[in-house]
Amino acid sequence: MIDRSESESRKLLVRLRDTMAEEAAGQERLDKITHLTADSMGTEVCSVYLFRDDDTLELCATEGLKQEAVHRTRMKLGEGLVGRVARTGKMVNTADAPSERGFRYMPETGEEIFSSFLGLPIQRLGEKLGVLVVQTKDKREFTHDEIYALEVVAMVLAEMAELGAFVGEGAALKARHTQPTMIRGITGQEGTTEGHVWLHEPRVVVTNLVTEDPQRERERLRTAVEQLRVSVDEMLEGASGEQLEVLEAYRMFANSKGWRTRMEEDIDRGLSAEAAVEKEQSVARARMSQVADPYLRERLHDLDDLSNRLLRILTGQGRETGAEMPADPILVARNIGPAELLDYGRRLKGIVLEEGSVGSHAAIVARALAIPLVIHAQRITNEALNGDHIMVDGDHGIVHLRPDDSVVSAFRDKIAMQAQAQERYTSIRQKPATSLCGKRVTLLMNAGLLADLPSLPTSGAEGVGLFRTELQFLIRNQMPRRKELVETYKRVMDAAGDKPVVFRTLDIGSDKVLPYMKPNDEPNPALGWRAIRVGLDKPGVMRMQIQALLRAASGRPLSVMFPFVAQYEEFRAARDEVQKAVAIERKLGRAVPEKITIGTMLETPSLAYASKKFFEDVEFISIGGNDLKQFFFAADRENERVRRRYDTLNVSFLTFLEGIVQRCSESGTPLSFCGEDAGRPIEAVCLAAIGLHKLSMRPASIGPVKSLVMRTDLDALYDVICDARERGEQSVRESVLEYLRWNG
Ligand code: PEP
Ligand code: MG
Repeated sequence: MIDRSESESRKLLVRLRDTMAEEAAGQERLDKITHLTADSMGTEVCSVYLFRDDDTLELCATEGLKQEAVHRTRMKLGEGLVGRVARTGKMVNTADAPSERGFRYMPETGEEIFSSFLGLPIQRLGEKLGVLVVQTKDKREFTHDEIYALEVVAMVLAEMAELGAFVGEGAALKARHTQPTMIRGITGQEGTTEGHVWLHEPRVVVTNLVTEDPQRERERLRTAVEQLRVSVDEMLEGASGEQLEVLEAYRMFANSKGWRTRMEEDIDRGLSAEAAVEKEQSVARARMSQVADPYLRERLHDLDDLSNRLLRILTGQGRETGAEMPADPILVARNIGPAELLDYGRRLKGIVLEEGSVGSHAAIVARALAIPLVIHAQRITNEALNGDHIMVDGDHGIVHLRPDDSVVSAFRDKIAMQAQAQERYTSIRQKPATSLCGKRVTLLMNAGLLADLPSLPTSGAEGVGLFRTELQFLIRNQMPRRKELVETYKRVMDAAGDKPVVFRTLDIGSDKVLPYMKPNDEPNPALGWRAIRVGLDKPGVMRMQIQALLRAASGRPLSVMFPFVAQYEEFRAARDEVQKAVAIERKLGRAVPEKITIGTMLETPSLAYASKKFFEDVEFISIGGNDLKQFFFAADRENERVRRRYDTLNVSFLTFLEGIVQRCSESGTPLSFCGEDAGRPIEAVCLAAIGLHKLSMRPASIGPVKSLVMRTDLDALYDVICDARERGEQSVRESVLEYLRWNG
């Protein structure tokens, strides 16, 4: 039996749809909607408030309040009950609005005579567009059914707004997706670029929102869910590790009765099957922005992905929309896996992600491909449309979508200046990095993928100071086989020719979790079972890797470095593994490298205080500044808030590094520095000034660093550092900048 409230709600939706189908201006449509809604719900007032800008709402249409107030009454986010609904994204339902906390009386609307108030957010896929309100004179709370009916109206309004149904005069009625928008995110990879949006997951457009035939829509939904279930089951076969976990969650949702029932209820109230899916998706997105627990957030993401799949089945819109990729594509996505990113390869001019993290695999790949990347660009997938003009400032983590002329010209000036600088760097590519005082600084590059290697000749790097072997493991869905590793390492050595390459053995754990290995539930992964600790406790993979390196070298010299060694004994044990592997290879009659150099990263303060014997024994040391700095200051390198608090040029840190330089020079141990700071020109010259004459960095940094080294008197700079230290400055940065301003 059809519930009366359901049939009322359906009637209202059909009337709304017909209104939309009529030829009318945006304002006229909104007026009709408020009229119809008030009429259908038996309320004296129905009003629509839309966002005029990010934090101002404007009354755009009303039935029941004074018409003079339309486009005049405005409120800030959080102001009054309407502002509260907009800020929190949550309903307000009260019988006595004037006595409600935060109520604000708007005299121009004449609302003092209305007592009850029901306000709901108008939002689409987590994006807030405005607030829909009904009010009555008599004191009463709205029933569950009434709330539900209004929710459905709000949803239709949001969809209509998306389709541009209310475009008209006035700032609040402007077409969406046409305004210039600036989004502030976080730098994933430096560089500035301009191009056109290419959506990794093109938006599904739902045009039929309303139905008069719920039975048919229920059937469509049922068939689509069934199809979805089958496809998830198919994906599950052959899945493993983290992927399996995600798919299990998909299956759980696809089989969830609650999810289905809620969508069926929406259909019974007049929504089409796809509109019902989208309504559920909107609810999940709205929750997502409020949930702090990462596990729950992930599950809401799963639900979101699943809704997208279902929408694609229902609308027949695949990922392939027929749109042509622009010649200068800037990829916009919520997130992307490293393998998918590699598929796009160097075609992309830039990448903007709504999520991601500095240490994520996608960021690692973007860096390898030297593509500017901005992460945490909130709302970008809602705001951007395929083909939109977009400018990406990876240096500052800023994205300009549909920029206006003034932004375009300022941005182009910046790009031109960078291009000029790049030309300067090209002209010094073949020159050695020798300072004004005659010190020779060796500049090497960090790498980890085959995609990095073309940068070796083009950047002017003198070799690879750090080859992060874990990246080959991270970008795949299963453990690579030894044969494949031999092939990869061989290609790396071939590409390097006679330039040296330092291979670092697997550094997993902490932020680098292999998708196909059981994750360790550790309270503090950065201080946990990672890198050499895993390598020594479970030596299988490390042994395979060492063997692969020996075979790839096949007689050529080889440099091996161990990550995260915190005490002498770990180095000794790891070195034994290499020696054992060499003995086995010899026994098997295989060629072994003519010379093997075995060194270690210095990433924990403890190793700086290891015995003299250790320094004499190890063949080289490379300071991993990223980890070393996080442990020195006890500040998580992935946590922007604390990371930025401690300057690399802090006197304590520089003095500590100088101590390491001192110890290595006493024992004659070759020393280098391979953290991110080596690639920042100011930091790099300071490191060189305190005696670190071998720096390994991302390839794009070699030019800028070399250029500054060549213009700097490192002895004089060292005096500047010592003077600042003497004066008790916390960081030497200001003094160094001042010196370089006049002398650099
Ligand atoms: C470091 O810690 O500085 C380093 C180079 O290693 P990773 O960034 O791979 O941890
Ligand atoms: Mg490290």
